[in-house]
Amino acid sequence: MAETVATRYLATPRTAAVEPGPDLAARLQDLRKCVHCGICLPQCPTYLTLGEEMDSPRGRLYLMRAAAEGRIALNDTVARHLDLCLGCRACETACPSGVAYGSLLEAARAALAARRPLRERLLARALFAVFPRPERVGVMLGVLKLYRASGLAALVRRTGILGRFPRLRAMESLVADVPASEPLPEVIAATGKRRGRVGLLTGCVQRHLYPHVNRDTARLLSLAGWEVVVPRDQGCCGALELHAGHLDAFRRRARSLVASFPLDCDFIAVNAAGCGSAMKEYHHWTDEPLVRGFALKTRDITELLVEAELPLGRLDGTVAYHDACHLAHGQRIRREPRELLARIPGLVLVELPESDLCCGSAGVYNLLEPELAERLLERKVQRIVESGARVIAAGNPGCLLQIAKGCRARGVAVEVVHPVELLARAVAQRGADA
Ligand code: SF4
Ligand code: SF4
Repeated sequence: MAETVATRYLATPRTAAVEPGPDLAARLQDLRKCVHCGICLPQCPTYLTLGEEMDSPRGRLYLMRAAAEGRIALNDTVARHLDLCLGCRACETACPSGVAYGSLLEAARAALAARRPLRERLLARALFAVFPRPERVGVMLGVLKLYRASGLAALVRRTGILGRFPRLRAMESLVADVPASEPLPEVIAATGKRRGRVGLLTGCVQRHLYPHVNRDTARLLSLAGWEVVVPRDQGCCGALELHAGHLDAFRRRARSLVASFPLDCDFIAVNAAGCGSAMKEYHHWTDEPLVRGFALKTRDITELLVEAELPLGRLDGTVAYHDACHLAHGQRIRREPRELLARIPGLVLVELPESDLCCGSAGVYNLLEPELAERLLERKVQRIVESGARVIAAGNPGCLLQIAKGCRARGVAVEVVHPVELLARAVAQRGADA
């Protein structure tokens, strides 16, 4: 049998099996909603790539249910099939029975988290020591910048040593540039007729790698009549911990984020799909009223801007929109970003085939599972080339990094941007034209 990502892992030594944790066992009724119809299978990126039933939503739900019913143990084999899942939730969109796959996966991962082999626990500890802490992400990116500028990166690449460490290579190749970033003012006044007050999430990755996206977001909100509040002490939304099943850490992170925003914000605006999706579902994991209220006030930036009349000037070109999984599947937002892009005079919005198939980014999936992530990225870049677009827009920093990396590596000359960047350029053009 040809070796695949799945078979290689399954050949690795087994560790002690674990019992499902209370969160998964409590979800038995939800797990039983799956009627095994298979409608979700053609929408699942891992099933499309690996062709294995146990790497499909139906197969994974079967394993989770068997574990929750005590028929099988949550052993390494089960863990591997769950680890290969991107958590993209395309299966939720497809499912006619309303199976809440994403939260079931998170519950299963929570049951597994404490009993991972030492190597995996150390890796998780290293990742979670950095990524949910914006200040540490900044330090890490500063070191990366130095590594590149000193010429060490070129030297290391020439030795070919990174080929032996696919995860390190994936991390090294993901970030092309680390821009200089200035924090936004804590309060930005509304322009024109005031609608109310919006808190802005600046994000752990977004603030360091795409600070201009946050600037554009704040400017557009202000133009739309919102006073924008940007708390300096805001931390991480906890999405990565949620997806890894570290539920206690996630709940702490959620409480702390909620506490950093003033209570009188009408909405909390988010320009990163993964963060917004996690924040809108805070109340699934805790019944604290403040946290619940915060979740209900959370909006993707496109939901707020689509209600506004922005002064948009002409931008000639073709753009294709990539649906970030946690916007299209996690938040069911597809219309708003397309409608906003279509409003820009001169800009032609073209269809991106398989626009809602995951690009392989999926939080830190591209760092943990670089081989499968790369196969999905290859497919995404092919679709981008077929679309003929010169600009690709996506509402999530992970997708922006991943797609830009794929296009760079394959010499595909497209610009990869957040939709708010195009809107801000159109606003600037209108100003220049006036
Ligand atoms: S979340 Fe995505 S990768 Fe995982 S089973 Fe569902 S469709 Fe497949
Ligand atoms: S998750 Fe939904 S679509 Fe997929 S097999 Fe089960 S019932 Fe069918």
